[in-house]
Amino acid sequence: MKEINAVDFEKEVLNGGKVVVDFYSTECAPCEALAPKFDAMAELYGEKIKFLKVFRQGNRELATELGVSSSPTLLFFENGKQVTGSISGGIKKSEIIERLDTMLTSEEVTAIKANQKPIVSEYDVAILGGGPAGLTAGLYLGQAKIKTVLIDPALPGGYMGITHQVSNYPGFTEAQPGFMLAHYMSEQTKQTGIDFKVAVDITSVDLLKKEIVIDELETIWAKKIIIATGTTPNTMNAPGEKEYKGKGISYCATCDAKYFVDKEVTVIGGGNSAVEEALFITKFASKVTMIHQFDKLTANQTAIEQLQANEKINVMYVHEPRNFEKRGNTMITTIEDLKTKKVKELESDGVFVFIGFKSNVSVLGKTLPDMNNWGYILTDEDMKTSIPDVYAIGDIISKKYRQITTAVADGTIAAITISKEL
Ligand SMILES: Cc1cc2nc3c(=O)[nH]c(=O)nc-3n(C[C@H](O)[C@H](O)[C@H](O)COP(=O)(O)OP(=O)(O)OC[C@H]3O[C@@H](n4cnc5c(N)ncnc54)[C@H](O)[C@@H]3O)c2cc1C
Repeated sequence: MKEINAVDFEKEVLNGGKVVVDFYSTECAPCEALAPKFDAMAELYGEKIKFLKVFRQGNRELATELGVSSSPTLLFFENGKQVTGSISGGIKKSEIIERLDTMLTSEEVTAIKANQKPIVSEYDVAILGGGPAGLTAGLYLGQAKIKTVLIDPALPGGYMGITHQVSNYPGFTEAQPGFMLAHYMSEQTKQTGIDFKVAVDITSVDLLKKEIVIDELETIWAKKIIIATGTTPNTMNAPGEKEYKGKGISYCATCDAKYFVDKEVTVIGGGNSAVEEALFITKFASKVTMIHQFDKLTANQTAIEQLQANEKINVMYVHEPRNFEKRGNTMITTIEDLKTKKVKELESDGVFVFIGFKSNVSVLGKTLPDMNNWGYILTDEDMKTSIPDVYAIGDIISKKYRQITTAVADGTIAAITISKEL
């Protein structure tokens, strides 16, 4: 694996051979999550395919020329030509493998797969998810000397890691950058000696058997499982959204707002996260137009007041996006006025979508614990679910308030309950 700059691009990439290039940025959680997977892939496929990294902020012109508008983005080249399409955002290891395998012969793929040996490990507790809830459960279990593994397809920190500033976590007089809070929490938990298996692919979960398979290779058995997998941002499923995800449409302001200096941005949404993220985007962009389906914002009053005082933000109430397309480098959002039913086109340099969340239960296998009507897991006061020895904590559970403080409280309760039982 090698880091290159724009000047080396022709020699290293366009001059032939099979090459995969990772365009990454700093302060980008999905980029950090991709890095160890990319290294592992380089070790496995390195003899057949060249693995290169390009720092996007330092090579903006090259990135723009290649149509890279989101971090991280992987581009694949064969004999100087781009092949198999790019991938960006929260990239799974299996997505990379799928593309790399298409660049090799079936004999080469079989030989590479034969080099991987299956692993089996046993724990008292397996925690699925390393956000504030999972990290806190890990902290208490580690301090109680309970053999614990924390598993996450990304890096530890969860949403905390991509929140620009956290001003309501007790113990800090100044607002903390979210990634620093994530770093402190994760280091504190690591120091207790529990195992971290992060930036892995979750191949399967069987809550009844208490079996988790990661990276299609390692089987983990645990006496108890804690579910702390949080939520995922909703998508609108409007035409063009999937196509331009990572190519003009983003779901992460901390990752991508810095590329919109003096540019115009469209933000979809009007709740807390949309308002907070729109305010953050104005640190870079010259103008932000928010599209909100209701006639009032649904964020907290402080955030609404900050937004109203910000001259860069204009809100279009009672409008909904209907379609996304790209003309040159301009994103065109077709919006409908919900009162008059009239549609019009809105031009901007990029679109950010913040329209709420859904719980990450689909990744938990066939047998799921009891849930409420919206797919959030029901627990008792000890964080126990309807499945014996399976606990759930944090944003994934049915509760009124989803905050870092409430997530860490849930993690504490589950871990103390388990410590008393084991
Ligand atoms: C933009 C934004 C700003 C916010 N600002 C604040 C704030 O200022 N103050 C505050 O208190 N709260 C804030 N919140 C809310 C707060 O971040 C959440 O309530 C909190 O992070 C929930 O913690 P969690 O551990 O339950 O879930 P998350 O933080 O969502 O973490 C879940 C973890 O599970 C992992 N995961 C997903 N799928 C799997 C799987 N299949 N197996 C294993 N792991 C998996 C994810 O990668 C992630 O690391 C904010 C949220 C957002 C979105």
